[in-house]
Amino acid sequence: MKLAILSRNSKLYSTRRLVEAARERGHSVRVLDPLRCYLRISAEGFGMHYKGRPIAGYNAVIPRIGASITRYGTAVLRQFELMGSFTPNPSDAIARARDKLRCHQLLAAQGIGLPVTVFGDNPDDTVDLLSMLGPPPHVIKLNEGTQGAGVMLTEKPSASRSVIEALRGLYANFLVQEFIAEARGADLRCFVVGGEVVATMRRQAPKGDFRSNLHRGGSARAVRASAAEQAAAVRAAAVLGLGVAGVDLIRSRRGPLVLEVNASPGLEGIEEATGLDLAGRVIDHVAAAHQPLRRNAA
Ligand code: ADP
Ligand code: GLU
Repeated sequence: MKLAILSRNSKLYSTRRLVEAARERGHSVRVLDPLRCYLRISAEGFGMHYKGRPIAGYNAVIPRIGASITRYGTAVLRQFELMGSFTPNPSDAIARARDKLRCHQLLAAQGIGLPVTVFGDNPDDTVDLLSMLGPPPHVIKLNEGTQGAGVMLTEKPSASRSVIEALRGLYANFLVQEFIAEARGADLRCFVVGGEVVATMRRQAPKGDFRSNLHRGGSARAVRASAAEQAAAVRAAAVLGLGVAGVDLIRSRRGPLVLEVNASPGLEGIEEATGLDLAGRVIDHVAAAHQPLRRNAA
């Protein structure tokens, strides 16, 4: 197949690995910077240029769109979809996954466990909003934060209120959750490809932190997720419409709880922890799922 990888930087580990895995399997592959793709939209058809030249004919596109360019990146991806390319993660699914609040609503609506979460706007409602959640500790998260930055733990009602006040002062969107103490600073990253958990790592927060993100100094090792954990991860990816996803779970007394579904899961940490060729799994999935190109490009 003729494959494009939408990525701002071809030197990133995940991008390099996908290119390598595609070439090993005999596919033609090119890395395209989504910000250098520009689009022609008309009722007669859809066109795209890249750095001064027309491009077309890609059977499949693997998006690796960073959070800072979600809007432009998903518009470019949607153009590829309209031009007939297959993508394991469609533009609408990425947009859904990027908004934590929306994600939580969609997952909870399907009965997928998550930490109880509250969300509100007006400062006059803060006390009652927190009473809907229950007593602290609370976890306060920026709605569009990533890699653990913007995730705070408060131990007292007064602390929850002042953090919320500060965030409102900055016009930040945030949600407040019950703190799952029994997770003990650990979470599971399940790597889902094509409706199957193909790898799982357990991440442990560094001493003195409750956030287990690798970017925050957490450590990772390969584990086997339980049947219930695998089922939750697979369902979460499916509800959002993602063929490739990194689903973060924590272990609680009432079973696995989904924290987040990542639409561009990094390969480095989990390939290193598990020793598995996950780039290869992604490419194989895309190669098996893509269709011959539909012809509606201008
Ligand atoms: P980010 O998108 O920034 O990674 P997460 O929601 O995944 O934010 O939170 C980062 C980390 O903080 C998680 O990996 C987990 O270790 C910890 N954490 C997040 N929410 C909770 C919670 N409600 N209870 C306990 N620990 C949590
Ligand atoms: N974008 C990275 C991922 O999805 C973040 C890794 C992390 O959570 O530290 O895997």
